[in-house]
Formats: sequence, structure tokens, C-alpha cells
Amino acid sequence: MEDNLRTFREKVPLTDGERSVLMDIAENLKTGVPCTACRYCCSGCPQGLDIPYLLQCYNDYKYAATMTPSVRIDALEEDKRPAACIGCGQCSHACPQGIDVPAALARLSQMYEEGPHWSDQIRRRQKSIHEDLKK
Ligand code: SF4
Ligand code: SF4
Repeated sequence: MEDNLRTFREKVPLTDGERSVLMDIAENLKTGVPCTACRYCCSGCPQGLDIPYLLQCYNDYKYAATMTPSVRIDALEEDKRPAACIGCGQCSHACPQGIDVPAALARLSQMYEEGPHWSDQIRRRQKSIHEDLKK
């Protein structure tokens, strides 16, 4: 609490670098999808995908390239991941927001494949621990 108060008491302007990071995030947010999680699209999905969950992962990727969305997708069974979408378009017809869900899921699948992945991070850490133990 004291640390938070100290942070907000000091009126230090953002640096150019910090401002640039925020502007990049704002630009990325514009490329997200306006899913309201109404779930109108879900019951008709022949693959039984949790579409709003996947679109939230998609937006998380757009917000910043962190491992959070990949961990959330890792937690799904293979047949519930974005690559399982067959592109039938049922969801887009049902969506009041007019979201092109198959396109977003195809892009999500691509971003997921490209990483970063938590499992890679764990492997890297294990390797580094083993190397340290050998010293
Ligand atoms: S396009 Fe994909 S997500 Fe949408 S209903 Fe068809 S299989 Fe499900
Ligand atoms: S119908 Fe559209 S807004 Fe509603 S959950 Fe599905 S994708 Fe999101």
C-alpha cells in the first residue's frame, strides 16, 4: 500500500520510451475483436468450441505478446483449440457484433503456434539449472 501511494504521489512524466510502449498497445487494441461474451454463437458450433474464451485469448495476444494466452490455450484439449475450427461460419452469422470468428481463430491458431510457449520456457529453465549443477 505504501509503495502504491509513493508511486502515485510522485508526478513523474512518462518517458518517450514508456509513451511509445503505451501507444503501441493502444494501436494493437484497435485490431482486437469486440466480443461481448454473449455466447449466441456457441450452441451452433459443430466443434463445440468455447468461442468467447478463444476470442479473449485472441485479444490478449493483440494487447501484448505475453505467455498468458498460450497458457490458456495449452489448458484446452487439442480438439477445443483454435485449430479445430473448420471455418463453417455459423458463429459469424449468429454474432450480433458481426465478428469474423473463423478469421480471428485462424490468426489465433497461427499466433499460438508461433509462441512464446510456457513449455519452452520451462525447458529452458531446466536446461539452465542442469548446466549450473554441472559447474
Ligand atoms: S466457424 Fe469455427 S468457431 Fe465458428 S461455428 Fe464453425 S467451427 Fe465453430
Ligand atoms: S456471438 Fe459474437 S459477441 Fe457473442 S460470444 Fe459469439 S463472437 Fe462473441
